[in-house]
Amino acid sequence: MRYALLADIHANLAAFTAVLGDIERHAAVDELWCLGDIVGYGPDPGQCLELLQECKHISVAGNHDLAAIGKLDINLLNPEAAYAVRWTSQQLSPEDVTYLSSLPAVIERDDFTLVHGSPRESVWEYLISTSSAEKNFAYFNSSFCLVGHSHIPLVFKQDENGGCSSIPFTAGIGQALGKSRMIINPGGVGQPRDGDPRASYAIYDSESNVVRLYRVAYDISATQIRMVKRNLPMRLVARLEKGL
Ligand code: ZN
Repeated sequence: MRYALLADIHANLAAFTAVLGDIERHAAVDELWCLGDIVGYGPDPGQCLELLQECKHISVAGNHDLAAIGKLDINLLNPEAAYAVRWTSQQLSPEDVTYLSSLPAVIERDDFTLVHGSPRESVWEYLISTSSAEKNFAYFNSSFCLVGHSHIPLVFKQDENGGCSSIPFTAGIGQALGKSRMIINPGGVGQPRDGDPRASYAIYDSESNVVRLYRVAYDISATQIRMVKRNLPMRLVARLEKGL
């Protein structure tokens, strides 16, 4: 079986569409595993929700998903994110709200645990350092944990002595899943933050037991124009081309 690992689509339809096209080019997948933040920041929340639901998928809830349906305090977000979430919540149909309300915080599937932020704090914690990753291995039972939220592709591997190291997660190079437990972030589809503005996602092949990262160029200006038309904050518009 093959699974596409997607995080942080963030209502960026051009990026999401480009990623789905790229997945098809590499060979079809059996299911999408979505790590939350389907909406927020971007200009096309309804269309991204619709497109995701057309695909066979499972998804956890992200902080922006919860904020957009009033399940998380908007004031906990930075002012630009809060503005975008308020705008997003005005665009959602009753069906969109029902769907977002149905998303769980944690999904366990095969030998994977899916969360948005971290297994210790499913919605809020950013897993970007080995010190925080090390502590989080105690908070899930499966061998592997998939996270999003930081929008940065990362792999943390637990050592035999319980320590932790980060290993490079480079596009195109397969990451073999072995006996060591790992926390894996496939990067962000709709707002990458590792300095590479291309959309980021990964494919997990359960037969070869390999996770491979992919980067996909998409029409960034198309998304930016749509954001400007919707009066979304200019800093959010500008950051897309920088990938930061
Ligand atoms: Zn996000």
